[in-house]
Amino acid sequence: MQTLKYGIKCFSMKAYLGIDWGGTFFKAGVIDERAKLLKKEVVYSPYLKEKESFFKKIKELLQRFSSYSLKGIGVGAPGVVNIPKGFIYYLPNISGWEKYPLKESLQRLTGLPVYVDNDANLFALAELRLGVAKGKARVIFLTLGTGLGGAVAFEGKILKGDTSSGELGHIPITLDGKKCSCGARGCIETFVGATYLIERYRRLKKKKKEIQVREIFKKALQGEREALVVWKEFSQSLGRFLGGMANLFNPQMIVLGGGVAGAFTLFKPLLWEVITHQAMWPHLKQLKIVRGKLKDAGIIGAGILVKENLKQRREG
Ligand SMILES: [Zn+2]
Repeated sequence: MQTLKYGIKCFSMKAYLGIDWGGTFFKAGVIDERAKLLKKEVVYSPYLKEKESFFKKIKELLQRFSSYSLKGIGVGAPGVVNIPKGFIYYLPNISGWEKYPLKESLQRLTGLPVYVDNDANLFALAELRLGVAKGKARVIFLTLGTGLGGAVAFEGKILKGDTSSGELGHIPITLDGKKCSCGARGCIETFVGATYLIERYRRLKKKKKEIQVREIFKKALQGEREALVVWKEFSQSLGRFLGGMANLFNPQMIVLGGGVAGAFTLFKPLLWEVITHQAMWPHLKQLKIVRGKLKDAGIIGAGILVKENLKQRREG
């Protein structure tokens, strides 16, 4: 039996706490040694924007999952982090966390080892180890959510430096364009991120009413003109971008995840057509574009991050 801070006691099964912290949802779950998700909880991210409520939630989670012998915590943060130090430089879609030592604070709070990485890298890690990209050498991963997260696997490993590189969402595709959440202009995220799709739809409809991306998807399926325009523009922008990425990395697979990927069946035909026009044809020989297979890839990836780091430390 293990005793954590605040007298929380852990029994039985060895497990890892994975946190997938997105701009819209904060998802936490426990995975076992084989990376099977045992339990999870989802909270609306804006409720945890303040550090106080964030850490309160972490304490609650440790209580809730106290029947497992938690060995560590993995966090996928939606922004630029220093991976070895677990230090947040900034989160484009969540303000107030600039230059924050998350790993250090969480370790002090919980008494457990903590590892922090970029959320898209962890989505990629889960799909690469257990999901649709298992066994593949070169893969591009995109998380289509509030913003656009990205990761690249090359020779079976996720490309990263000390900082969470692979920020594909912040590659510009126009010389000027809208201001992006990262502070620059014209990034691909400003064409395909959920925030921008919603804004574009509301402008076309000349309506101020709040709407979710999945409703725009539904309306497009019903044949609504404005909704179809949004998805057509989305497919064209993303297709041109991915055609360029195919030329850069010669991937065998492109894996799409995140809430916006829920509309995959709708946008795939045009997306694929645009990619095939943009990419140089030899790069298309092996290329497939698919939706991620794992329902909770972000949580699972965060758990795997801890498991693999602890293993490395033991063998170290
Ligand atoms: Zn940007």
